[in-house]
Amino acid sequence: MTTQKGTINVKTENIFPIIKKFLYSDHEIFLRELVSNAVDATQKLKTLASMGKFNDDLGDLTIHIEADKKKKTLTIRDRGIGMSADEVDKYINQIAFSSAEEFVKKFKTKSETEKNAIIGRFGLGFYSSFMVSDKVEIRTKTYKKGGATKAVHWECDGSPDYSISEDKKSDHGTEIILHIDEENKEFLEDHKITELLTKYCKFLPVPIQFGMETIHEPIEGEKDKDGNQKTEEVSRPKIINNPDPLWKKTPSDLKDEDYKAFYRELYPYSFDEPLFQIHLNVDYPFNLTGILYFPKVKKDYELQRNKIQLYSNQVFVTDSVEGIVPEFLTLLHGVIDSPDIPLNVSRSYLQSDQNVKKISSYITRKVADKLAELFKSDRKAFEEKWDDIKIFIEYGMISEPKFYDKAEKFVLLKNTEGKYFTFEEYKKLIGETQKDKDNKLVYLYATNVDEQFSYIESAKERGYDVLLMDGVLDNHFIQNIEQKFENSSFARVDSNTIDKIIVKEEEAPSKLDDKQKDQVKEVIEKHVDKATFEVSFENMSESEMPMTITQNEFMRRMKDMEKVGGGGMMMGMGGLPDSYNLVVNTNNSLISKVLEEKDETKQGELVSQMLDLAKLSKNLLTGKDLNDFVKRSIDLIG
Ligand code: ADP
Repeated sequence: MTTQKGTINVKTENIFPIIKKFLYSDHEIFLRELVSNAVDATQKLKTLASMGKFNDDLGDLTIHIEADKKKKTLTIRDRGIGMSADEVDKYINQIAFSSAEEFVKKFKTKSETEKNAIIGRFGLGFYSSFMVSDKVEIRTKTYKKGGATKAVHWECDGSPDYSISEDKKSDHGTEIILHIDEENKEFLEDHKITELLTKYCKFLPVPIQFGMETIHEPIEGEKDKDGNQKTEEVSRPKIINNPDPLWKKTPSDLKDEDYKAFYRELYPYSFDEPLFQIHLNVDYPFNLTGILYFPKVKKDYELQRNKIQLYSNQVFVTDSVEGIVPEFLTLLHGVIDSPDIPLNVSRSYLQSDQNVKKISSYITRKVADKLAELFKSDRKAFEEKWDDIKIFIEYGMISEPKFYDKAEKFVLLKNTEGKYFTFEEYKKLIGETQKDKDNKLVYLYATNVDEQFSYIESAKERGYDVLLMDGVLDNHFIQNIEQKFENSSFARVDSNTIDKIIVKEEEAPSKLDDKQKDQVKEVIEKHVDKATFEVSFENMSESEMPMTITQNEFMRRMKDMEKVGGGGMMMGMGGLPDSYNLVVNTNNSLISKVLEEKDETKQGELVSQMLDLAKLSKNLLTGKDLNDFVKRSIDLIG
């Protein structure tokens, strides 16, 4: 065969400059494309061998990547099926070129964001090599024997003209030689190549070798003076991928340790261990495998999204899985591998795709089932993990009704004593005691045991139980379950005095008449900031505190939502002011004392002291007020 020259396609415009320019920002994907082709060719040969259609010894099928800085070449070499001259013409000159053309055409009409969405996911194929090269050579020999099966040398310099000639290559397989252009010479650097191979090829199913690594090998029969095995440093070719990743294996063959080790393989820079994992494995009605890990959530730790990696037949596609898994699960870590997720489409299309919807609900169900199973099989272990997994479960229950229906059987409520209850168990616990006179069940909760201590104590004195709701999502969660629970409400322990939160019977008689109340109110209002505190009266028992500060449940929820940015309706109103109720116990003898006290200074001191004590119980006494209080208290004892 003599050298032939040809023009790839004369009918349309020259796409090479467009490939270089348009795809500039993502030109690194060329390596993924070429290595994937090498993997495909290798897998095909393996399949043929298993079908008895290739009877030679397969030998070592490792794919080799080599960079030559002097020659400025990057070579990708496989021992796969290779191509004959006819096949090069058909697959490279015609098919690959047309699909590259089509890609470029599609790409040109897309908006910037859509471009970004497709580029990481939809390959330009072999011609992406021209994003980084002046010239590309193919040396290939088909696995087939006899006839027109000589090795072929194809070469193209980034114009539509190519040449094809005979090659001396003796072994089957393909070698792609890229002559890296000046602008892209970073792709000749070891660290850059390693980075890309690790990103895109980490779990490809055929071993890929790049560079060398040093290992310590034992020297047979030699021990040092302490009797330890002597080792020597040995340099050997480095395989950069794990061709047999854990998610492809049978779950029943795996131990917890294997999953933990794989987690470290996925996130080599993370020091945390996952809490537990879910191994996904379906082949009907769609194909999907993967492992999802529940990470440990630290306090005040920013939740990281986009830690799930999406693969298509072990080729890395993206680490942004929004639209494929339900939002609450984007907080999990791990891998999902599915050839059934359409990758060459925009995100909005993805979200409406029926297959993707099915996948999404499958994953949701699997996660719920796994949690239910953990809960059932080992309640104690589940409780121990609860504080860490609570955020995922609450998030899921708030955002996915289907998940709610499953999770309502295992979601836990924790009380201020650290005991855990299911919804049903808790309802039973408080069912009789915490019903008010209208038969409504009141769930009491605290968000901070220290700050709301005295309020929790008053509730406990009545025989009530108080939940601890101190998670970042608890506010939203309460709002959500309150709507679902029948004839029930949630109230923070300091939202009112306890007997006003759960009203059992008519109020006790008051020691003060209305005129006296007005007098007391007048005295108190001299000493409090009226914009912040609204004074009211309640006829409690004598032993109850003379003054208590409470904060309306509704207003406080609004304020809390505003803090986490979920307020919605309150946005743009410049923030809500702090407002509290100051509840005066008409039956406490100190209140009567205020009325009896004729010395105005002493009367003022008495009111201020009671007020400050109430503030202290609510953690509101700070700065100058606190200092004044301390001084006044010392004077009073003295
Ligand atoms: P795709 O891989 O999506 O089919 P490409 O443009 O990457 O598109 O490749 C076009 C065709 O060229 C492949 O389908 C395959 O037939 C052939 N090809 C590319 N690389 C190799 C290779 N390393 N070994 C054998 N055939 C190859």
